[in-house]
Amino acid sequence: MSLDAHTAGLLAVARTLHRRGALPATSGNLSVRLGPRTMLVTASGRDKGALVPDDLLVVDVDTQEVLGTAGAATSGRPSAETALHAALYRRDGACGAVVHTHDAGSTVLSMAADTAVVLDGYELAKALHGVTRHDVPVVVPVVDNDQDVPALADAVDRRLAADSVAYLIRGHGLYTWGPTLTDAARHVEALGFLFDCELRRRAR
Ligand SMILES: [Zn+2]
Repeated sequence: MSLDAHTAGLLAVARTLHRRGALPATSGNLSVRLGPRTMLVTASGRDKGALVPDDLLVVDVDTQEVLGTAGAATSGRPSAETALHAALYRRDGACGAVVHTHDAGSTVLSMAADTAVVLDGYELAKALHGVTRHDVPVVVPVVDNDQDVPALADAVDRRLAADSVAYLIRGHGLYTWGPTLTDAARHVEALGFLFDCELRRRAR
């Protein structure tokens, strides 16, 4: 897929998620893999409802050095959380896209949960990559938030399993990923529904 196609895809998904309230007040980040060691990621502090190609940075997955932009020029810089995207690409060669949201459901559930949210018995869990049955629990680890992002990345790495598709940072938001941006965006939508179900079930 061309850089232009990846750019168009990221801008469209960012607009949609911003409209749904999942990326409020410039928060959240989205990225896609461009090659074995490069990713295209949103610059820090930009309104996710009004991104332009200059707001997308080509970044080295190993060093997080900015190699270029999807636009003509950029004044943008990667957010500190770019390291969490890079860690997922380094961890899994099949990871093609990562979406990080600050949606209210993920934030509230992450504060109500202990060390993981276990989604068990939900038909819609089959919208998650690799899940084919409703009766095999999907474990979404919850890690404590930390402004020391390398320490946070280490804590995440210790908690992820080979088949993980998402994690929550307590009081902060959701990270989810998949082979393509379409998969990662579908995970945001599916997990949003499933977390809403969990919150309603817990409120009974
Ligand atoms: Zn964040």
